[in-house]
Amino acid sequence: MRKTTTPKTDALLDVRGLRVSFGTTQGLVRAVNDVSLTLNRGEVLVLIGESGSGKSVTALTVLGAMPSNTRQVAGEVWFQGQNLLSLSPTAMRHIRGNRIAMVPQDPMIAFDPVYPIGVQIAEAIRAHQPLSRREAHKRAVALLDQVGLPNAARRASHFPHQLSGGMAQRALIAMALACGPDILIADEPTTALDVTVQAQILELLMHLKETMGLAVLFITHDMGVAAQIADRVAVMYAGRIVEQADVDTLFYRPQHPYTWGLLQSTLRLDAPADVEIQAIAGMPPNPVSLPPGCTFHPRCPFVKKICHEAYPTLEVVAPNHIAACHLSVQERKEFNRG
Ligand code: SF4
Repeated sequence: MRKTTTPKTDALLDVRGLRVSFGTTQGLVRAVNDVSLTLNRGEVLVLIGESGSGKSVTALTVLGAMPSNTRQVAGEVWFQGQNLLSLSPTAMRHIRGNRIAMVPQDPMIAFDPVYPIGVQIAEAIRAHQPLSRREAHKRAVALLDQVGLPNAARRASHFPHQLSGGMAQRALIAMALACGPDILIADEPTTALDVTVQAQILELLMHLKETMGLAVLFITHDMGVAAQIADRVAVMYAGRIVEQADVDTLFYRPQHPYTWGLLQSTLRLDAPADVEIQAIAGMPPNPVSLPPGCTFHPRCPFVKKICHEAYPTLEVVAPNHIAACHLSVQERKEFNRG
């Protein structure tokens, strides 16, 4: 039985000291290592980082949908006065898809290809609400209309392959909204879409946040997408949050070398014409054998002796702004010329 205390903040979601490990043929993977974050009603928190940084594992753990090779889950995930990590699988099923819903990356894989989308959305509603098939279908059409699918009543009878990528993603968002969740977890929901459709889906999510008071945990590796949608941003690297701040602070006053690297590798329209895009040197570390000290040290241009020896603690560097780096305030000012 996991230790259960009480929530310490009034945030809608309060993740504390989350650790998740997987067993693999190569060894134990520490996918998430001491992650703490909060999410408030009507807020978009973006988790950003390269593939394998622990973003999706954090989200799946909140949903209680860890893969079968999970070896360890520790920490606390508070939602509406309950530590989700202490709930039974049955209790968790009442929350997943009902109070906390997810929009995955690829709608063509997420939908069952052999049923019309209206039927699938109606079934998702009936899994949590005592409605007749006819009532659930009516609600499914209303949801498709709400997410901007043209001719919603007709589209409800279409199979997933009859929809464009953007339409299918809207339908998937409708399914996630089926039970009026408090939290929407969106895992790279625009990655498979072209840029104009991507902008429409981001606009839709912003609209839903405003009109429904949804809290959104949005996962992406794209700084441009984060800039468009985030209220706050948490940067993840090798299973840890290395920097977290509100979106303006993170983009205009970043304090961590990895965030500097992400920004320097992104095309910015407000950057001077002579600023060149630079990739971050090297590759993310092997999660089976993470480097000692700061896990970013093999790629960091500003590495110091202590970086090889000790992992830096997350410290408050400004109000509502935390970062984990051994650089002094003076060194950060000197090195961050982005
Ligand atoms: Fe770079 Fe050291 Fe800061 Fe890690 S702690 S980001 S290696 S300067």
